[in-house]
Amino acid sequence: MSTFIPAAKPIVGDEEREAVDRVLRSGMIAQGPEVAAFEQEFGAQMVGGRACVAVNSGTAGLHLGLLAAGVGPGDEVIVPSFTFAATGNSVALAGATPVFADIDPVTFCLAPESVEASITERTKAVMPVHLYGHPADMDGFAALADKHGLAVFEDAAQAHGATLHGKPVGSFGAFGMFSLYPTKNMTSGEGGMVSCATDEIARNVRLLRNQGMERQYANELVGFNARMTDIHAAIGRVQLTKVDAWTQQRRANAAFLDANLEGVVVPTIAAGATHVYHQYTIRVAEDRDRVVAALREEHQVGSGVYYPIPNHRLDSLKHFAPGLELPETEKAAAQVISLPVHPSLTPGDLERIVHAVNTVVKAGA
Ligand SMILES: *Cc1c(COP(=O)(O)O)cnc(C)c1O
Repeated sequence: MSTFIPAAKPIVGDEEREAVDRVLRSGMIAQGPEVAAFEQEFGAQMVGGRACVAVNSGTAGLHLGLLAAGVGPGDEVIVPSFTFAATGNSVALAGATPVFADIDPVTFCLAPESVEASITERTKAVMPVHLYGHPADMDGFAALADKHGLAVFEDAAQAHGATLHGKPVGSFGAFGMFSLYPTKNMTSGEGGMVSCATDEIARNVRLLRNQGMERQYANELVGFNARMTDIHAAIGRVQLTKVDAWTQQRRANAAFLDANLEGVVVPTIAAGATHVYHQYTIRVAEDRDRVVAALREEHQVGSGVYYPIPNHRLDSLKHFAPGLELPETEKAAAQVISLPVHPSLTPGDLERIVHAVNTVVKAGA
């Protein structure tokens, strides 16, 4: 019996353990110098030196980013429906209305044409997601932003290090958010990083993260406690030194899958883009759930479905989109399977994944 190959596997080494120990021994474990260093290092390495603000989750990063950029009640923000619920949730949490638009069937990312068709006089911004680690069409959104006077924000939760025309994601919009949850391409345990285009947005995120205070007890506005701890930042700083090598390994794993899978649609990379393969997502033409079950039960290969229910159909969000039909989103939600692509896979694991998918898909044809 072969061992199970999980769909995702966080990698934590001795360096992370030592970094946590160093912080614990220092006696100062809340937000402090490690967080400041992490923000500095992340900004320099990931987003061309932009001001970055660390928070305690990616979701908090989106929420605070939206508030910091002035989104509030009465505003509409156009988002994809084919994403993790946090994208639309953050808009609702900011008191605004998430408006769901359709995706490009090739990249699975928000489609500018569908966004343009959804613009109203209340539209304040568009917030594409760099889904699965593939950059969204930022040229298309920049053109729409110019034409209609919109802001652009980025949900880069899954796309640490992805680029478009050589420019890193998270450096296009007024703000961009990276998640540091354990299954993402790098982690701090829990956490998020907000990359900010202006000092004003960065200052607002800092205020909102800490009860509206820049100086102790001089509260300027009503804020949250969304602070990252130095324990988490210490883990994140170590992971930051490893993520580029992990991305190279993800790309090599993806190249092997591209070259060897049969009978399925493999990921396509848009012109000028680099993909960081947070997920390696295929489409199958037949009963997707049968394929997922057979991979697991007959071949001990884990996989994931991101995302089976379009966000505009979730009980929590559907009241924002009565009667909305998004054909490409519905189709993708029924057809996608994400295969393991994480950097811990061995060459033997990759062979097993290919054999399993090819066998299961052939049996259903
Ligand atoms: C993970 C994720 C988030 C939220 O990040 P958390 O750190 O889990 O709060 C938001 N958007 C997308 C697309 C994600 O994948």
